[in-house]
Amino acid sequence: MSLGSTPLRYRISIDRERCMECERCIENCSYGVFRREGEKIMIDSRKCTACHRCLAMCPRDAIMLEEYPCDYRSHPVWTRQAREAIYNQAKTGKIILSGMGNALDYPIIFDRLVLDACQVTNPSIDPLREPMEVRTYLGKKPSRIEVKKKENGDVELVTELVPNLQAETPIMIGHMSYGAISLNAQLSMARAVAETGTFMGTGEGGLHERLYPYQNHMIVQIASGRFGVDIDYLERGSAIEIKIGQGAKPGIGGHLPGEKVCLDVSCTRMIPLGSDAISPAPHHDIYSIEDLAQLVRSLKEATEWKKPVFVKIAAVHNAAAIAAGIARSGADAIVLDGFKGGTGAAPRVFRDHVGIPIEAAVASVDAKLRGQGIRNEVSIIASGGIRESADVAKAIALGADAVYIGTAALVAMGCRVCGSCYRNLCPWGIATQQQNLVDRLDPDVASKQVANLINAWTLELAELMGAAGINSIESLRGNRDRLRGYMLDESLMSVLDVKQVGA
Ligand code: SF4
Ligand code: SF4
Repeated sequence: MSLGSTPLRYRISIDRERCMECERCIENCSYGVFRREGEKIMIDSRKCTACHRCLAMCPRDAIMLEEYPCDYRSHPVWTRQAREAIYNQAKTGKIILSGMGNALDYPIIFDRLVLDACQVTNPSIDPLREPMEVRTYLGKKPSRIEVKKKENGDVELVTELVPNLQAETPIMIGHMSYGAISLNAQLSMARAVAETGTFMGTGEGGLHERLYPYQNHMIVQIASGRFGVDIDYLERGSAIEIKIGQGAKPGIGGHLPGEKVCLDVSCTRMIPLGSDAISPAPHHDIYSIEDLAQLVRSLKEATEWKKPVFVKIAAVHNAAAIAAGIARSGADAIVLDGFKGGTGAAPRVFRDHVGIPIEAAVASVDAKLRGQGIRNEVSIIASGGIRESADVAKAIALGADAVYIGTAALVAMGCRVCGSCYRNLCPWGIATQQQNLVDRLDPDVASKQVANLINAWTLELAELMGAAGINSIESLRGNRDRLRGYMLDESLMSVLDVKQVGA
């Protein structure tokens, strides 16, 4: 006997009194929910992903979307998600793919941390009237500085400084590759980081030539597939990032389906047209910290020691020990990607069950590096689940130097977190290579929205710092005394090294 169909996830209906039959819903829904049959616009709600494109485009507000119009009998263990995953796998025998970040109802640690503010005895600082330093330098810092006095009385720096990345804000955009997302999406973000004086990652898909004008704001990535990597690519980036792991799918590689590998993507990635781009789980030349050190050194040699080299790992149980090794490998920054990190496509079981929260990873890595006296050897970049400026402030107070945002930048461009990025049908023109859909995203408009978001968060960060009497990002970094745990258990507070509220 067949399992039959599962209950509807969303129900779409049209208020026929309001509808003016303009058919914009038919034109705009790339999932095929709407079609015309004779006089009537018909609806197939089963195809709906709640991308909200039709709601946004209907000129008469005639469309209604209802979530879970018919639910399963409720049960605390056999949730809707658990049952649907079983039905799905009983039918297909396959691994379930999913988009966006971890969807389980884990507590979000950022929401259980509160920031401090000055009152009476320690005056706050008004960022509108006093200078507030949010400029961030990423890379190695000398443990001590030597200076010598010149004959004319000036002081000269003797210590040789290694190249650092100078960002005007500690908010950067993480790696989302061309292929996973559209060129218009990458262009929009590139213009936004250039405007705000910060950086974005290329992801593992190479660097399209239309991004060359923004290369001074690009961190070029090398992942296990080595797509698009040659000396020209390395030389164009402001920094180079070796991707070992990703928060949404720790321990496994990547898979860009062949239908997303259009001519342009194939040229940029240097792979055949229409072929699946599969990155292996490990780098086949890295099986130890010594191997990693060799690659770090090779990349520095290849680029004449002019560019910082970052190493990105997924936040996992022993992230602190691994980070200590990375710091000794010669790398200039460690990127920690927490298990709330987004993805275009990941096996659901990995996305939801593997890895650790970014808050715990940052705190433990910062503590380990400080304990070993090597914190100045590397910067820490936190990514995976940064949703607002308060998360940025908390991540920095836990020990990060800067953060990467990903999903937040996509949302600023119009993404509705529908989680269907791997289907190449993104109705907002972001996670697709279909030109008619890509054209829906206007880089002039989207870049402004992303720049606005970065500017707004930076302003809020300055306000939060000012309220806490802190006038430089350096003084916030690792300053756990300005954080308190609220409704967190003692063992987690000890990992985070924060006190509880009231203490
Ligand atoms: S977009 Fe709105 S007004 Fe136009 S046909 Fe669809 S439901 Fe009717
Ligand atoms: S990028 Fe597009 S497909 Fe992916 S979640 Fe956002 S709206 Fe949906």
